Amino acid sequence: MFKLMTKIKTYFILRKNPISPVIWGKLANSLPICRNLDHKDLYKLKKLVTLFIYEKTFTGVKGFELDNEKEMIVAIQACLPILNLDISYYDGWIEIVVYPDAFVIYRNSTDTNGLVSEDTITATGEAWSRGPVILAWTDVERDSFSPRAGHNVTIHEFSHKLDMLNGRANGMPPLHPNMRRSVWTQSLSEAYDILVKKIRNHEPTAINEYAATNPAEFFAVASETFFTAPSILKQNCPEVYKQLVLFYKQEPRGI
Ligand SMILES: [Zn+2]
Repeated sequence: MFKLMTKIKTYFILRKNPISPVIWGKLANSLPICRNLDHKDLYKLKKLVTLFIYEKTFTGVKGFELDNEKEMIVAIQACLPILNLDISYYDGWIEIVVYPDAFVIYRNSTDTNGLVSEDTITATGEAWSRGPVILAWTDVERDSFSPRAGHNVTIHEFSHKLDMLNGRANGMPPLHPNMRRSVWTQSLSEAYDILVKKIRNHEPTAINEYAATNPAEFFAVASETFFTAPSILKQNCPEVYKQLVLFYKQEPRGI
């Protein structure tokens, strides 16, 4: 009964809130991340983007002005990871805050003597648990139209949101019944340890070194790589690739 009610509600939202077909057509043709999607996937993505824009609130800050097209650019990349999941994977929060450029985050940290200090970090994206996703437009735009393999700030931040579905971001999103926690943990932690070792030995790494920050960042960077350069991930971290195929229920073709 609940499923049927949700289906009816979705049907009316899609009918009453169509996204601009002109902007959709333009972006579906010009965004490299959409280029390799077939008609069936594009149709599914369009539905998700419609629901996403209906459910979420976009707020531009520091003088940044959003329009339909900019919202859709974010929405398309946010919805690609949930293409074969469900819009409910982004339930529990509503806001996407967009800065014109990189922004500063203030964080308190406590050292071993209990001394509290305030650190400032320049960021291009941030995801809060049960709170907003924050993005810097210059980086969203560059990753959208001039993508580099392994880099996509929107996919990075939204994969943190998926990770946060079962608590703090820790590199362990809620797995599907056909997946095993032990296999996920082993696959990701082995690749993480290899990455840390390579960085320590000043060896080149196949994925962005930022992944070695902690397991949550490893999952987010692996997800960025999975969607933008799947062959790099498949070749260098085959077990991680297999787990991400199971989690995201898709095999992306990249940019
Ligand atoms: Zn991150």
